[in-house]
Amino acid sequence: MKILLACSEVFPYSKTGGLADMVGALAKALAAAGHQTGVVTPLYPGIRERFPKLRQLDWQMKLPMGSLSVSAEVYVLHPQPRLTCYFIQQPHYYARKSLYQTNGEDYPDNPERFIFLSKAVAHLARYLPWQPELVHVHDWQVGLTPLLIRHQEWREGWGRAPKTCLTLHNLAYQGACPAVNYQFTNLPWDYFHIEGAEFFGQLNFVKAGISFADEITTVSPRYAREIQTEEFGAGLDGLLRRREDAVIGILNGVDYTEWNTTHNPNLKHPYNLRNLTGKTANKKELQKYLGLPVSAKTPMFGNIGRLVEQKGIDLLIPALESVLTEPIQFVSLGAGHSKFEAALSDLARRFPDKVAVRLGYEEGLPHQIEAGCDFYLMPSRFEPCGLNQLYSLHYGTIPIVRSVGGLDDSVIDLREDPIRANGIKFSAYSVPALAQAIRKALVLFEVPTLMHHLRQNGMQAQFSWKVTAEKYLAVYQKVLDS
Ligand code: ADP
Repeated sequence: MKILLACSEVFPYSKTGGLADMVGALAKALAAAGHQTGVVTPLYPGIRERFPKLRQLDWQMKLPMGSLSVSAEVYVLHPQPRLTCYFIQQPHYYARKSLYQTNGEDYPDNPERFIFLSKAVAHLARYLPWQPELVHVHDWQVGLTPLLIRHQEWREGWGRAPKTCLTLHNLAYQGACPAVNYQFTNLPWDYFHIEGAEFFGQLNFVKAGISFADEITTVSPRYAREIQTEEFGAGLDGLLRRREDAVIGILNGVDYTEWNTTHNPNLKHPYNLRNLTGKTANKKELQKYLGLPVSAKTPMFGNIGRLVEQKGIDLLIPALESVLTEPIQFVSLGAGHSKFEAALSDLARRFPDKVAVRLGYEEGLPHQIEAGCDFYLMPSRFEPCGLNQLYSLHYGTIPIVRSVGGLDDSVIDLREDPIRANGIKFSAYSVPALAQAIRKALVLFEVPTLMHHLRQNGMQAQFSWKVTAEKYLAVYQKVLDS
């Protein structure tokens, strides 16, 4: 098969969250399975320096953006056989300090920046000599591409236009923006209606994607069901129900070449299930690094992630506070809303021997937290897939999760299945429910055989990208056969 992926962030070139991990790993797995694979993504500052093998293609793109014409160059990299990454060099749009925001606020021209990216993807899909048969776009930033491709097929004589697939990584981000931005699409206004790109008078990238993609996937089976309900559908549940036959949930895999405990440059002490002494040594390293008292016997909890409503930080802080009378430790790494950053910093100030908070984005520290902690907290309000609980399982760190989305699909509680249990789950979105789950963990910590049982199940679980990629290939085949 010939597949072109597109995303605004791709690991290891750029990343703000799990989206980048997923697309980077999917691309590698598709190419490894023998398929010709391309990935389109912006050229952000620093990528050329970090990947000196990048070379410029003899290709000058000139794309209409409203009444203007905007040009861009294309850089390529071949990280492995059959895989080519195409980087769109457009300094006005992409040469910025961070990907989407400045000082916690979205860049006001994000719609324009990502309409341009959506167009660049359609342009490459049309003119790349290897002629991709399927274009697979990820999240709102490239959500307009399926419409742009269909439009060119229907009205601009693109003979064998590729089929399209849209993956929804998080329906909370839809690229909804004032209708005035529609001019940058240069599409006729007859797509701007309730059955197309319009949503309550605004332009909505994701809605356009759902309306015009041949297939829609999301990143866990449970989230695929949830987004068809009013509670989780973020206003698009009706449309998703209408397209029910085209919606499928596929749980993300883990890139074990990056996320492992045996060959990991981020970990001082390798370990595995048969020899966990390295895990304890990593715990002590982490405590030392964070300035917490060094003690293997103190149960240690961790959390890494964007500090936003979705992640349940408003539960986490009071629930932790209610158990901080116990001899425990907690480490948090994250960045996001200033109110959460301030509340976490305050907790660390008041409990300096128990709580360590790192604000910001650090590349290696997540591995040390996953390896060093005993428990990993993920009390999300909703969670399309979640990767950190999958990493925790592999690192022998018992996840404590709320039973939503991909968390529910990947973590098994003792009450559900005592034999296969690998974590602790709670369901109510409430402080007492989370506090009770933490207290359960403290009891578990005192029963080493049970701890080992859960840990063993987690470390043996396989969320292999090979299997996940096969599921995507089956979706692609279905679309190509239709
Ligand atoms: P989401 O995609 O919703 O942000 P996931 O759990 O799916 O959440 O994936 C988050 C990814 O981003 C993980 O690889 C995690 O380690 C990483 N990450 C999140 N916040 C930070 C941070 N502040 N520093 C380093 N890595 C982070």
